[in-house]
Amino acid sequence: MQEITRILHSLPIDPLTGAISVPIYQTATFVQDAPGENKGFDYARSNNPTRQVLESLIATLEHGRRGLAFASGLAAIDCVLKMLESGDEIVAVDDIYGGSFRLFTHVYEKFGVKVHYVDATDPQNILKVLSPKTRLVWLETPTNPTLKIADIEAISRFAHAAGALVVVDNTFASPALQRPLTLGADIVIHSATKYLAGHSDVIAGLLAVQDEALGERLKFFQNAGGGILGPWDSWLTIRGIETLPLRMEAHCRNAFAVARALSEHPAVAEVFYPGLSTHKNHSVAAKQQSAFGGVVSFTLKDDTTEAARTFVTNTRLFKLAESLGGVKSLLCHPATMTNKSIPSEKRLAAGVRDSLIRLSCGIEGAADLVEDVRWALEASGNNRMESRYAEATTL
Ligand SMILES: *Cc1c(COP(=O)(O)O)cnc(C)c1O
Repeated sequence: MQEITRILHSLPIDPLTGAISVPIYQTATFVQDAPGENKGFDYARSNNPTRQVLESLIATLEHGRRGLAFASGLAAIDCVLKMLESGDEIVAVDDIYGGSFRLFTHVYEKFGVKVHYVDATDPQNILKVLSPKTRLVWLETPTNPTLKIADIEAISRFAHAAGALVVVDNTFASPALQRPLTLGADIVIHSATKYLAGHSDVIAGLLAVQDEALGERLKFFQNAGGGILGPWDSWLTIRGIETLPLRMEAHCRNAFAVARALSEHPAVAEVFYPGLSTHKNHSVAAKQQSAFGGVVSFTLKDDTTEAARTFVTNTRLFKLAESLGGVKSLLCHPATMTNKSIPSEKRLAAGVRDSLIRLSCGIEGAADLVEDVRWALEASGNNRMESRYAEATTL
């Protein structure tokens, strides 16, 4: 069965009414027949029927057995970190999502958790810092915002030999393009805010695992911490996931077109897109992903914050905003936006230069997006500071 058919038909028909859309159970509690005698639900932090459908859906998508849904991607990440104890160590990718870095550094290091950051594009770098204290190897692939690729299969082998679990933040690829659990990873986490929900209208986090016991442990921490996703946002996320494979096709097609146009432009220094044969880890990406995603990053020959500012304020379709993965194109300047909580030496060392710009290609027409990017490059080349809002009236 094709993936989209499998996804759509894994969603239950409501047994009570035949409703084809999953009902939204907007309730905090469930009436019991006698103490402890209930219909599988007692209090909605522990379990909610709408959330439960989404939790099964992410397990289905990721080819896992258990799924959990959270109030945000970071709440999902936080739940995984709650398994750690003082003295435990994490080996993490060096250009990790800024919010994950902040949580590791300013919350968990305080409790005695140590984090080693390495360039995971070479699995040997991970091997070098693994120790008996390593509990988690934390991967993002492709990474944010420089689209580096880590070999999930090779790293999982090393990590398991050292007794560590492998966590993959699969936000950028989405399960439509990459399924880390089938490559050996133990836990997959998502900011469902991005491609899964897909419409820039909800903040949500998801995780999925293969191992039932690990799933139970994480479920315990989900309930203990309480960072659950509400029924309405669970419904929105289910609704988004129904079209995930279709949207991903358009995102990938558009990103390819934009990446090619950028590569040919004289004002552009470097383009980061795993689909380009010039990408450092193109072959690993081609091995573990079915397509290359909707995000493209690039730097300008004029490697200054000012030049980047001119670009990001001159696009008309790409809107300047944090976040990615929605149907409408977005762009951001990581050095001053998403990655500003990372110290500048660390940021530069991870390749996030001053002029780096991240594009999240939406599902608009590819030619329109290419034209928009060319227009803004022209502006940044001429250093013409013109408001995008003045232009917006001509669209
Ligand atoms: C956005 C994002 C997160 C955090 O998710 P929220 O839903 O914003 O809490 C984590 N990882 C990656 C790669 C992200 O892009």
